[in-house]
Amino acid sequence: MKNFLFVLYVSLTISAFGQAQGAPEVTVIRAGTLIDGKSDKPLRDQVIVIRGNKIESVTGSSAAKIPEGATVIDLSQQTVLPGLIDSHTHIFLQGEAPAQGGYDANILNAPLALRAARATVSARRALEQGFTTLRDVETEGAGYGDVGIKQAINAGYIPGPRMFVSTRAISSTGGYPLEGYAPELDMPKGAQIADGPVEARKAAREQLDHGADWIKVYMTHRSWVGKNGELVSQPTFTVEELRAIVDETHGWGKKVACHAYSGIGLHRALDGGCDSIEHGLDLDDAAIAQMLKQGTWYVPTISVYYTDWAPADTPEGKRDRLRASAHEVSFKKALKSGVKIVFGTDMGGIPWTEPIAQEFTRMVDFGMQPMDAIQSATSRAAVMLEMEGKIGIVAPGAYADIIAVPGDPLRDIKTLETVSFVMKDGRVFREK
Ligand SMILES: [Zn+2]
Repeated sequence: MKNFLFVLYVSLTISAFGQAQGAPEVTVIRAGTLIDGKSDKPLRDQVIVIRGNKIESVTGSSAAKIPEGATVIDLSQQTVLPGLIDSHTHIFLQGEAPAQGGYDANILNAPLALRAARATVSARRALEQGFTTLRDVETEGAGYGDVGIKQAINAGYIPGPRMFVSTRAISSTGGYPLEGYAPELDMPKGAQIADGPVEARKAAREQLDHGADWIKVYMTHRSWVGKNGELVSQPTFTVEELRAIVDETHGWGKKVACHAYSGIGLHRALDGGCDSIEHGLDLDDAAIAQMLKQGTWYVPTISVYYTDWAPADTPEGKRDRLRASAHEVSFKKALKSGVKIVFGTDMGGIPWTEPIAQEFTRMVDFGMQPMDAIQSATSRAAVMLEMEGKIGIVAPGAYADIIAVPGDPLRDIKTLETVSFVMKDGRVFREK
């Protein structure tokens, strides 16, 4: 870690100095293998020319011309990929381990400045691991802090990924923690609470007004094992309430991400027009058919449901295990039927000290082809974010968000946990 910090410092200094010279810097990357984010097959021996923050050309090495004065980065022994996109994170959350006070400690004990400081570290860790774009889906009680972190990254104060932020998120009364305290206490909530279409629309307006790129809605809350051993989820908003949010958000040209586990709340999420289903632990056939018809994105976030299980013989423990087993079935069904699956982790629910790319291994273990898994975190995520051709691809005209790994991720997907090179916007943030 110490070594890396030194490298980061040096490269930031050099970059800042270089940019002060006027004409955009030209950098050339020699890629031994290139997975461009969109093509079905990798390309060998490619030369990527980067001018300023954009990719100018991608050419086979025999035909390539190296511009004079260009800085050449030799990744000829590595696999080069577009910067990765995690479409479900919480930079303001630092794990929910019961031993550390669980979720509540994030809100009850941490001053906002501490939360912001930790969020800057989360953002940097994502970038170090090759995730050059995050869709961060709620600050968990830290207000509009994500808008501030995004501004700090964009202004160059701190290193971090491109951020698509959703600010406070929206749920209904009884639909979000903090909960379980004396009813006389007016406890803070991790999300903005709204009831009725008027309040729901107003909450969306406030969040959009204050900089939300996406609106995050909770369509289910508690879950438990039902009478017949099925996963039951408590629904939150009615279709009418959700439609008010979706209508307002679409009017602003933005999209709605809906947390939905199963049952009534999941179906309301689809009837109300959510653009993405987050988690989708128990997708029945009707839900899958509706997602296909409406073009709904599916961000499954598998890994997080394998953390912090309660003991097996408790109601919570049984629920935790059922969540994971139902999720596996849903993921496989969605994959087989052609639902648009996008990579997301719920980092923050998972401590930021853990590898983000572990989710790739879960996806591949559940039957996804490695190339498909990579595209779910590159070009497919870019389409969801309406950044097609700009991120998630190594091609002329795209932002120069480029990473490399020492091995072959198509043979061993875990290689994506060992990112050795990170460039974002033409600037090198990691090189070892
Ligand atoms: Zn989440």
